[in-house]
Amino acid sequence: MKANLDVLPLSSWIDTAGKPLIIAGPCSAETEEQVTETVTRIAKEGYAHVIRAGVWKPRTRPGSFEGMGEAALPWLAAVKKETGLPIAVEVATPQHVELALKYGIDILWIGARTTVNPFNVQDLADSLKGVDVPVLIKNPVNPDLALWVGAFERIAGAGIKKMAAIHRGFSNAQETKYRNSPMWQMAVELKTLFPQLPMIGDPSHMAGKRAYLYELAQRALDLNYDGLIIESHRNPDEAWSDASQQLTPEALGEMLRSLEIRKPSYGDDFQSELEQLRQKIDNIDRELLEVLAARMAVVEKLGEYKRENNVAVLQLDRWKQLHNNRADLGKRLNLYPELVEEMFKLIHMESIRKQTEVMNNQPA
Ligand code: PEP
Ligand code: MN
Repeated sequence: MKANLDVLPLSSWIDTAGKPLIIAGPCSAETEEQVTETVTRIAKEGYAHVIRAGVWKPRTRPGSFEGMGEAALPWLAAVKKETGLPIAVEVATPQHVELALKYGIDILWIGARTTVNPFNVQDLADSLKGVDVPVLIKNPVNPDLALWVGAFERIAGAGIKKMAAIHRGFSNAQETKYRNSPMWQMAVELKTLFPQLPMIGDPSHMAGKRAYLYELAQRALDLNYDGLIIESHRNPDEAWSDASQQLTPEALGEMLRSLEIRKPSYGDDFQSELEQLRQKIDNIDRELLEVLAARMAVVEKLGEYKRENNVAVLQLDRWKQLHNNRADLGKRLNLYPELVEEMFKLIHMESIRKQTEVMNNQPA
């Protein structure tokens, strides 16, 4: 993919004194008291450069809390005045943009469920023409790099130069450890395309659970991310959205202080090359297993044939021939002989087990 983006460095629009940018705040603005107390406690801890809060919540199913809407904007304007911290909210429609700007919101972000839709993103871009406001773009919910790139191109097309990416992970078909799989390689690829684009990690939406926030935040810093966006609530268990992934402002402070910030000189290049090599190994391993599964499918057919023709499972001559042939092949490929030997012993054992199972199963 070839692409170009005119982006200003993060330091030109927000001062973090050389440290990673920290955006903290509740998943949603719920009540004036909740916003005021949460933000006051975050400000007291002193780690945050920006406050986040969801005002319009894109919920997967109707009936869940969909955000307080415009009513929450004055609460955010008030805590901004109180603490001096800039405020970021999610926008999904031109009307959201208009209202957010009307109440002096400083930074806008496009959510993962909006990035997937080029119509929505274009509508947002059109509403941002001539406006000087930083826009953060979350990765789309599905792992499609081009959609993420396209969203940046559309917003850049509106003349916005203050942009950053938020990596929040990708949704899964199966139940996995994390709510959203990080697939770090996707962010590395975006960064490879746009080296000057700031990258912000969102461990909250990757993790889905408090217990995983630390390891994901550290991983993002290890990859030299420019910042983190993390959800914090005055009383996480009582939160109206994303309760299990939020931290109290104090617990978040403790976590952030325990993170190790790597020396930038250690290098983007090292990390992304490492990631790329690991990704290659992951792909090859997947192929190895697919090939093994294909072999087992043939073995099953062989078992059926032997059953129908009443042939014994173990044919010693065949095993000796196979053993010698694979040893030779391995040698020619420069593989350690013992590895090849042990591997084929295991594979052969499994083949015999499988064929015995087939032999003892009558055809349907
Ligand atoms: C959020 O930040 O609260 C949110 C809705 O996130 P995402 O768009 O990543 O799901
Ligand atoms: Mn959330």
